[in-house]
Amino acid sequence: MLVYRTPKTIKENSTFTFCPGCDHGIAVKLVANVLDELNLRDETIAVASSGCSVFLYNFLDVDCIEAPHGRACAVATGIKRAMRAQKKENFVFTYQGDGDFASIGLGESLHSALRGENITAICINNTNYGMTGGQLGPTTVLGQVTTTSPLGRNKEYHGFPIKTAEHIALSDGTSFSARVALYDIKNIMNAKKIIKKAFEYQKKGLGFAFVEILSSCPTNWKLTPVESHNKIKNELTKIYPLGIFKDVLNE
Ligand code: SF4
Repeated sequence: MLVYRTPKTIKENSTFTFCPGCDHGIAVKLVANVLDELNLRDETIAVASSGCSVFLYNFLDVDCIEAPHGRACAVATGIKRAMRAQKKENFVFTYQGDGDFASIGLGESLHSALRGENITAICINNTNYGMTGGQLGPTTVLGQVTTTSPLGRNKEYHGFPIKTAEHIALSDGTSFSARVALYDIKNIMNAKKIIKKAFEYQKKGLGFAFVEILSSCPTNWKLTPVESHNKIKNELTKIYPLGIFKDVLNE
């Protein structure tokens, strides 16, 4: 059941600094809710990345480290392995944007999945580089206007966007890969269930678990929050279908 009170894992008196209507706030709160429910707060080490997702460390009451741009999965790998060498089993997850996970850090992300690192990665896909002003990113869809593609993404010039959840699902080391959205209550509740599953798979030692979250960026999309959610519902989910693409316990 979705809980509306502030999760214990959100720091007291936190005020989210994301832009109005940005889905990062919902995503961070869902992560905190799941950490509460699984009683993971004391053993968690979160790895924040560059971009708007970095603000996770301001809001979550867990140990956090910021990775250099794109390197969150490599840093998470190092932490997980180093703690295990000391016979400590910490829960380690990354919280990254699509530019960080699927462009600048694609090598680190994909190879962490291929190695079957027992970590969880969450990727916020808002189809652009949000914090730096809305440039074209790896997930920018064909025709989408950004500050660096003023005529729209063009497949001849820019190539095609990456379907991250499907690509990560192809790795033999991946235990779980799914894509969710946050544009209405039903989808928010489902996103929470999926994040919980991805966290539980790490606890079961099953390997790399991944959740891609379709997320709004009203500021750079130049849309209202409601228009942004309509865009995700009516346009983006046609290009990035929601669902589970790999689940080792259900194959
Ligand atoms: S720039 Fe976009 S992704 Fe970043 S906080 Fe603002 S709305 Fe959210």
